[in-house]
Amino acid sequence: MKPASRRRASASLLALLGLLVQAQLWGCAREPEDVKESRFLMGTLVTFTISGAPREAALAAIRDAAGEMRRIERAFTIYGDAPNAVKAFNAAAPGAPVPLPDEVSRLLQTALAIARRSDGAFSPALGAPDRLWGFSLPEPPSAPPDMARLRALMRGAKWTNIVHAARSWKRLHPAAQLDFGGIAKGYAIDRAIAVLKRHGIANAIVDAGGDMRIIGNRHGRPWRIGLRHPRRKQATLGWFEAEGDVAIVTSGDYERYFIWHGRRYHHILDPATGLPARRSMSATVVARNATLADGWSTALFVLGEQGLPLVRSLGMQAVLVDAAGHLHRTPDALAPFHPSPEPHS
Ligand code: AMP
Ligand code: MG
Repeated sequence: MKPASRRRASASLLALLGLLVQAQLWGCAREPEDVKESRFLMGTLVTFTISGAPREAALAAIRDAAGEMRRIERAFTIYGDAPNAVKAFNAAAPGAPVPLPDEVSRLLQTALAIARRSDGAFSPALGAPDRLWGFSLPEPPSAPPDMARLRALMRGAKWTNIVHAARSWKRLHPAAQLDFGGIAKGYAIDRAIAVLKRHGIANAIVDAGGDMRIIGNRHGRPWRIGLRHPRRKQATLGWFEAEGDVAIVTSGDYERYFIWHGRRYHHILDPATGLPARRSMSATVVARNATLADGWSTALFVLGEQGLPLVRSLGMQAVLVDAAGHLHRTPDALAPFHPSPEPHS
């Protein structure tokens, strides 16, 4: 080919490329818009975001996913008047075998496994002290409870007092009562994602007040997930780049708290004392599913910085703000984290 005709050929190749790029841009423009819907569930605002699916299909999937979360909330809560198996277990005579539905039994097994691995930093047996503190009651507290009463409850409110026996469960002490508050939201998020997947949804976020699981991506790019600063409401600690199937859950002392005599009292209790855990301001865990991320974020909050190697050894990723406001983190195992220029103050 002569130089001139070669130039012509490459010019028409460029034009063709231009057309292709344009076609792709039009393709993007024609893609359905993200569908975003919020519902009040599990004591928080849950936002469902679905990308790359027709609006009607996305709305139908969200309706079913929200229904599933509501079902789980009712099945696991220890608050309110409606009966459920968990409340029945908590009211049963100590030592009496109580059968639990498979779903409750399975989540209890998971919760007890996290309790064991975290050396008791996570405990699903804090129902009695949680009720005494009252952070989840309709009327939140503004002062600590009677300390003698709390100490008495803590003698029995131990996860080792919840035992499996011949297809049933027993509690070995009147103060050993179940509370799934540290893990049920994550489980509900996982179930919601399962419902979305069953509807054929491939790209979505289920975000329950900052605790979330994502699937797929957003028009071919990773989702960007901001992480809240525990003290400055409008500021972020940084952001995650998340893609595929990954959960990001945070436990923070700013979620439910009161200040009493200049001291912050919040809803995450140290199972060793029954008092609010003091080693962290916020603990974020990134895991393959939200059940684990939720359980372990609560455990890590209680353990503080010293819990990071454990979380890492279990294949998870974490970002922790300690009691002095310093940020610590594990290497990015699942979702690259980009810290803000000034993450703490
Ligand atoms: P989260 O916000 O996931 O960290 O869970 C906090 C909730 O879990 C509290 O409101 C309690 O219902 C319960 N909880 C408090 N302390 C613990 C703990 N150390 N282990 C497990 N659950 C806890
Ligand atoms: Mg939790």
